[in-house]
Amino acid sequence: MLDTLTIDVQPAGTSRLAELDLANLEFGKSFADHMLAVEYRDGEWQQPRIMPYGPLAISPANSALHYGQAIFEGAKAYRQADGSVALFRPLDNWRRLNASAERMAMPTIPEDIYLQGLRELVKLDSGWVPSAAGSSLYIRPYMFATDGFLGVRPSETYHFGIITCPVAAFFNKPVRVRFEQKYVRAAPGGAGYAKNAGNYGAAMLPSKLAQQEGYHQLLWTDASEHQYVEESGAMNVMFVIDGTLITPELSTSILDGITRRSVLQLAHDWGMPVEERRVSSREVVAAIQDGRLTEAFGVGTAATIAAIATIGHEGHDYDLPALADTSFARRVGAELEAIRTGHTADPHNWMVAV
Ligand SMILES: *Cc1c(COP(=O)(O)O)cnc(C)c1O
Repeated sequence: MLDTLTIDVQPAGTSRLAELDLANLEFGKSFADHMLAVEYRDGEWQQPRIMPYGPLAISPANSALHYGQAIFEGAKAYRQADGSVALFRPLDNWRRLNASAERMAMPTIPEDIYLQGLRELVKLDSGWVPSAAGSSLYIRPYMFATDGFLGVRPSETYHFGIITCPVAAFFNKPVRVRFEQKYVRAAPGGAGYAKNAGNYGAAMLPSKLAQQEGYHQLLWTDASEHQYVEESGAMNVMFVIDGTLITPELSTSILDGITRRSVLQLAHDWGMPVEERRVSSREVVAAIQDGRLTEAFGVGTAATIAAIATIGHEGHDYDLPALADTSFARRVGAELEAIRTGHTADPHNWMVAV
């Protein structure tokens, strides 16, 4: 390894920023001027490069395409009250990327390549970080196998990259979800805790079927009994029942969300009772019927907090009360936004300046 990391920067000749329609940002569609690219070969990561955003060339025999060694992360950078730009918990994403890499027999990324690469990239494209309420620069780190080889074994070469895109607030309307009790997202001992591309591919058909029934998302349940809540789409899920914040405990089939962790931390800080444990669909439905369930919401980087309006279970739709401004979900969403934009203190040092 190099003692001091240097990044080779090839700036874009002209910025595309002027073409961006800030009033109509669609998630994941417009990308900032630059991207980070680092190749792994001969057992080590090579010199990181920042270059104009553009296509990559791969072999038709690329083993990520055929056998799925492909992982990613999702993070955000925020415009601060003082005009500067800061990253939210970037090292948590770095650690989770490496946990995903280990699960998929891929090489881990050194901290300096990840953090310095990310900082330099976001600094260079800081003009792309929007400032409207709820908006941010979405950051997509990813790694995939690059061997052009059809033999089934871990690739010997990889590409690690980071691309970014300005985004507005994600879900605007409260979502309709239903328990999924036939298809499975992840099973114990599988790769559900890793952020690997294949988990998403296999979730698309069941999600599409639910969308055809008028739901936005699924509430995944456990693989063996189809009873216990796991998560919802690309979000962890939380309930407030009898004033206690309840969320499924982590396992090999649940993704360890950084938003989940942050929301649980704030709940602890505020003295709210928290339970991380198994939650069954029956418990959720019974608590809705008894009026003891006051809030249900998804938590994740893209949406931050996505209020759940309706939960479908065994052919019945259960409507939840609208979230009041005084609800935990609304308060924690506002607090996270204030921390991320530098409008309030950051007692856990979550923000890292670029
Ligand atoms: C990324 C992701 C989440 C949310 O994680 P955050 O770190 O909060 O963005 C939840 N579930 C799945 C399946 C995910 O891929």
